Amino acid sequence: MTSKNENLAAVLFKANDLRVVNKPMPPPTRDDDVLLRMGRVGICGTDLSYLSKGKMGTEPIVLGHEAAGTVLQCGANVKHLKPGDRVAVEPNLPCHRCEYCMTGRYNLCQLITKVFMSPDKGNLCHYYRHPAAFCHKLPENVSLEEGAFLEPLSCAVHAVRRAGVTLGVTLGTRLLICGAGPIGVLSMMVARSMGATRICITDLNKDRLSLAKQLGADSVIHVTPGRTEKDLAMEVREKLGGRQPNVTMDCSGAEASIRLAIEATESGGRVALVGLGPREVKVPLVDSAIREVDIFGVFCYANDFKDALELVASGRVNVKALITHRFPLVEANKAFETARSGAAMKVVIACD
Ligand code: NAD
Ligand code: ZN
Repeated sequence: MTSKNENLAAVLFKANDLRVVNKPMPPPTRDDDVLLRMGRVGICGTDLSYLSKGKMGTEPIVLGHEAAGTVLQCGANVKHLKPGDRVAVEPNLPCHRCEYCMTGRYNLCQLITKVFMSPDKGNLCHYYRHPAAFCHKLPENVSLEEGAFLEPLSCAVHAVRRAGVTLGVTLGTRLLICGAGPIGVLSMMVARSMGATRICITDLNKDRLSLAKQLGADSVIHVTPGRTEKDLAMEVREKLGGRQPNVTMDCSGAEASIRLAIEATESGGRVALVGLGPREVKVPLVDSAIREVDIFGVFCYANDFKDALELVASGRVNVKALITHRFPLVEANKAFETARSGAAMKVVIACD
């Protein structure tokens, strides 16, 4: 049990130096904000990258940005929430003034404050203050654990939307997903619910592929060292019923995987770059040019949380099936080590 004014938080001091310490309580709730008692927080690859490489600024930071919690207090202007409501936190806060914000593409706002880049932000703590407009109320049938998935699921919704997956006139989208991590598997489930008819997913990790299969992939490809892009592209075609994918989503960020995405996709098709790997990668760009394979970027989400919530609330996407490990906040180091070991699909930390 924690005492009333104890605000335990998982704080990253420098690379590989994560400690659970007591932080001051958040300042008094502002008019447009709510004070939350944090509930569940998922660990994502970005948190792991901070842990390994260290934070960006000089101040220690609280990790975690896939979160849901319960409203404790509401600011004077907050009308759509009340104490006791459970909410999912949309972490990135745009400026509301620039052209991108004004046209609804607020994920591209230059001033966007990412929770995980600001010292006093980060959701792995007991008490946390956030603008109410970026807190999405969960219905009765959606748990805090599922609520914590709305952040990565919104990434998947945004990515699949940009990829233009549709139920086509005849066969529908034949989709290749490279990388069966949480983002790849969530994208698979979203793409299915949006109409993709055949989905093939690749990974280096067999356990991740079997989970992807259980969760609805039509076929999987185990990428092993020494296999060429041509050889893998042939297998993709076979697995998709003898035709190349018309849409490919790279959800790994790995150079080899992006190269395969271009090689495997049919002429006139589309390749979404969802994975964020090294800043520079070598790809057969001229091949994509002469075959009119469109390559495009995807970043976070804008106005996608409501649809992500609808997918969970309606039972169309079972996010809980991705959780392989659960830890209490005081065991944050163990949780991060488990996530880093590669043995887990999704690790969730309980902050309450
Ligand atoms: P993850 O690291 O858990 O999953 C990546 C998967 O790719 C792993 O299972 C890995 O084994 C697999 N992989 C690596 N090399 C491969 C190869 N050559 N062929 C096939 N599979 C390969 O990460 P995640 O949380 O699922 O996120 C996926 C990627 O998306 C990461 O790069 C992450 O940074 C990025 N991401 C981007 C956005 C965005 O807004 N664009 C949002 C969230 C995550
Ligand atoms: Zn803006």
